[in-house]
Amino acid sequence: MYKRILLKLSGEVLSGEDKKGFDENALEYLANEIKEVVKNGIKLGMVIGAGNLFRGRELQNVTNSIGDHIGMLGTVINALYLKDYFEKKGIKTVVVSQIVNLPSVRIIHYDDIELYFNAGYVVIFAGGTSNPFFTTDTAAALRAVEMKADVLIKATKVDGIYDKDPKKFKNAKKYDKITYDDAINLGLKIMDTEAFSICKRYKMPIIVLNFFKKRNLLNAILDSGIGTFVK
Ligand code: UDP
Repeated sequence: MYKRILLKLSGEVLSGEDKKGFDENALEYLANEIKEVVKNGIKLGMVIGAGNLFRGRELQNVTNSIGDHIGMLGTVINALYLKDYFEKKGIKTVVVSQIVNLPSVRIIHYDDIELYFNAGYVVIFAGGTSNPFFTTDTAAALRAVEMKADVLIKATKVDGIYDKDPKKFKNAKKYDKITYDDAINLGLKIMDTEAFSICKRYKMPIIVLNFFKKRNLLNAILDSGIGTFVK
């Protein structure tokens, strides 16, 4: 059983697939899944994307670096939205970030993060890596290493890592286990190369799983064999 988890969620987990904004059903599902994890005493850090609001590369006529700043601010909006929603559902949550100075967001400080975990708070790391030209997958890898997580869990809408897109190809083959090098060399699109290589360098295992199967997240934490394990 894993005791310390960094969970990476894409922004679309908050809006529903290929939609923008926030969806009540999506938020409720997410809060219920997180509640199960917290009830089991797991120390949970989260990195959230912003695909439901802004992705730098999708913003037309906006300079790349500025588009990415907009994307990073989107992750802060998502984190605050989630914090508020979680707390209404009884999940104690703190948002930490290096990129904004707001009374509702705390600066990332390693000693404090330990205190938040010990007090039973979910810690949402907002603002990505704080740098343009990166994604929240890379932020998740960095935060997982920083918080000394046992594992980085990447929540997706498929059952794990496949050799090709299982939504497009019926004969796509799922990997139960794969090495970092294979994940990088095969160019598998499930996570950024930068994220895989940080995890490889610091020996951070990754589980890629289907977040939309009920209790899948908790089951992966309590028991092995769910999704694809990258090591
Ligand atoms: N972003 C960035 N630096 C980071 C993380 C994110 O510039 O370290 C920006 C980038 O524009 C990205 C957007 O924030 O497109 C949202 O992140 P991401 O695309 O990873 O969100 P997701 O697809 O997971 O919802």
